[in-house]
Amino acid sequence: MKSPALNRQLQSIFGDEGEARLFQGLEHLEARGEVELASGLRRLIQGADAACAQYAFIQQALAELGGDVLSEWNLRSGRIESGRQWKTLLGYPLDDLEDSVAAWQGLLHGDDVALVRAAIAAHVRGERSSLDVECRMRTREGAWCWLQVRGKISARDEQGNALRLLLLHRNITVRRATETALVAAKEAAEAANRARGAFLANMSHEIRTPLNGVIGMTELALDTDLDSEQRHYLKTVKSSAESLLALLNDILDFSKIEAGKLQFETISFSPAAVLQEAARTVAVSAHRKGLELVVGVGRDVPSRVVGDPTRLRQVFLNLLGNGIKFAEQGEVEARVELERLADTSVVLRCSVRDTGIGIAPERQAEVFEAFSQGDSSTTRRFGGTGLGLAICARLVQLMDGRMGLESRVRQGSCFSFTARFGREEGTVAVPGQGQPFSGMRVLLQEPNDTAAGALGSCLESLGLAVSRVRGLEEAELALARSRELDYPFGFLFAQGGAGLVQQWLQQRPLEKLVLLLNHEQSRDGLDALQAEGLGACLLKPVMAEDVKEVLSLLQGDSGFDLAPIDLQTQVLQEAKRLEVLLVEDNPVNQELARRLLERRGHRVTLANHGGEALELFEQQRFDVIFMDMQMPVMGGLEATEAIRAKELRRSWVVSGDYHQVPIVAMTANAMAGDRQRCLEAGMNDYLTKPLRLGELDRVLEGLQEGGGAVFPEPGGGSGAVMDLEAAEQDLGDRELLRQMGRMLLEEWPTHLSGVNDALQGHKGRDLCRHAHTLKSLVAIFHGDRARRAAQALEQTCQNEAAVDWSEALRLSQELQLALEEMKPELERFASAS
Ligand code: ADP
Repeated sequence: MKSPALNRQLQSIFGDEGEARLFQGLEHLEARGEVELASGLRRLIQGADAACAQYAFIQQALAELGGDVLSEWNLRSGRIESGRQWKTLLGYPLDDLEDSVAAWQGLLHGDDVALVRAAIAAHVRGERSSLDVECRMRTREGAWCWLQVRGKISARDEQGNALRLLLLHRNITVRRATETALVAAKEAAEAANRARGAFLANMSHEIRTPLNGVIGMTELALDTDLDSEQRHYLKTVKSSAESLLALLNDILDFSKIEAGKLQFETISFSPAAVLQEAARTVAVSAHRKGLELVVGVGRDVPSRVVGDPTRLRQVFLNLLGNGIKFAEQGEVEARVELERLADTSVVLRCSVRDTGIGIAPERQAEVFEAFSQGDSSTTRRFGGTGLGLAICARLVQLMDGRMGLESRVRQGSCFSFTARFGREEGTVAVPGQGQPFSGMRVLLQEPNDTAAGALGSCLESLGLAVSRVRGLEEAELALARSRELDYPFGFLFAQGGAGLVQQWLQQRPLEKLVLLLNHEQSRDGLDALQAEGLGACLLKPVMAEDVKEVLSLLQGDSGFDLAPIDLQTQVLQEAKRLEVLLVEDNPVNQELARRLLERRGHRVTLANHGGEALELFEQQRFDVIFMDMQMPVMGGLEATEAIRAKELRRSWVVSGDYHQVPIVAMTANAMAGDRQRCLEAGMNDYLTKPLRLGELDRVLEGLQEGGGAVFPEPGGGSGAVMDLEAAEQDLGDRELLRQMGRMLLEEWPTHLSGVNDALQGHKGRDLCRHAHTLKSLVAIFHGDRARRAAQALEQTCQNEAAVDWSEALRLSQELQLALEEMKPELERFASAS
């Protein structure tokens, strides 16, 4: 018999000798004369044999062509009765393994056995109409082959017990591998995304920290004695580090927007003020390039809206920065207009236009893409990363707006965008209201049309009738004519520069003069105005608010307290108080300075560091500022520079009434280079710590006389442990000195443990700071020995990277010893009453 399947059938019917018994039976039939029946049966058996062989062939072909292999299990005997190609599927020869369910199961992956059994059991029990399970089976090579096994009961007995099971095997190894690879790739991508998020978060910290270190250290180095070449190098380091920080912030912003992580604030703010601030920030660079910077705000723009002012400012700053960067001549104009007013929201249309190099039409869409620049020469010529506009466009989208660009090569570009904000009740401007100067006439001399247009409409909105001329000569003619007609102008707004003032004075003017200055001219203009005591000037770009203020001021009803600081009268008339801003971080020094100043009848406002001083300076007017040098957050030099910059930016100033606030340094660093550094930062005078009443009076008198700063040489000191007599003389008040003593004793342990911790942790900067503070504190009591030790310790750890720690240890021991020496006497003194 050819067919093994038929052979097995015969064996199961007739026992092991199945085929032989069948043929014996046939021979018996023939012997009994049943020849015809026997030959019929022989043909039937041959037919069955051929059919079984054919079935086996089909099975084989099915396995080879389709990959599907069908087998039939006998669930009673545990034999696999037909379909042995599942072995081929696994790489075994057909006669290699037993045709048993046990052999089949022996190849199953241990983890899949239970799954397969459960699937079969569920189907056999009739809980599932078929079985369908994916499992792994070992191949002959020892690898795992993934199979999809689907099956159905093919025979049951009368009681419904399952007898046979048909199973279809399909090799799904490739599909599973692809799926696994896809899952792995997805997981890898997700992990990469998470990693990117974490990386960004870390990067912001990790890069910013050292970068701030670089900037901070450079600032410190800039505060030391340097020749001009070294100063130039360090300034370059500082500005490079600052650009790097700006770039880093750009990249972070961009990634945050991409990741949907950017938070928008919703606070009430003035869109005009945002535009004004942005314009003022870039005004210096525009004027340095000789560009006219013009700002305009539509009359119907609400005074306040609700949204994120920082993001709006960021977009303006970027566009203004680009406008100035890409324009060599002409002007840059930024405007805000009202686009639409809805029930709860306001849509503003903003634009920044320049007369620069322009952008070719085919590149206009590209410039909004990240890292894209106008052309490859842009980076070389202008620098930048190509991120700015991409960020702006996305920020604008997040403000529910759109960004557009109109540009012509060599003629200029206009970037415009809309942005939606929340509405704040009662803030919509009503045209025609508030025209306090109606009926007055103004002659406006301004060569730049855009600037003249903006200022003209601003003056008109205040009710003034404006006549505009371009040049100075035209202005003179117009003035002369108006006088002849006995119909003079009330005001002359002129862009004439400082030279105009002299001419002006000679003519015994009737009109009130307002000089329009840019940053380049501002110093000259101010000096001229101050010298002549006349008129006012406006620093460009001019905003409506400034114009209103300057007009009110000239009208004499300013509503602003611009009384001149006249230190002479104020100090001499003891009754008159000075508003003093005291900037100092140490409580003992704060108290001492405050008490001394108050004793002279002045009112003292306290700031704990330069940052607070800046905020207070914005909110309040001070007659004089006393400024400590070394403070956390923002030191004295930096704060002074920032205050001076703010003063310069204040766009209206009035001759005679205008004063820079005198700033007096207070420092324990009585080094030779200090004077220059203080002066460079814009300070007017200098007090060495500890403060002495006599010195304080001298400084206040020095200010009133307009004299220069007196920078005393560092005193050598007596070398005594402590000299309370001398200290009392300094302050002129024994009780005050006692209080200072008590405060110092309270702080004593903090400073000592500060010194020890810094020593142990090798924290040079902390050690330097503690030594510095101790130095100034013990000096109040003329504790010279401790002061010297503290000073030496401070100097040893000034350069954090190169601290000689054994020397630092020695000096701090010396300091502690000196402190111990003065402590008992100080305690006695402080507790006496
Ligand atoms: P970048 O940091 O390079 O200035 P931006 O995204 O702000 O990046 O600008 C992308 C490019 O668009 C610039 O490199 C420049 O080629 C072009 N561009 C932007 N603003 C102007 C403009 N006002 N005039 C001309 N070209 C501009």
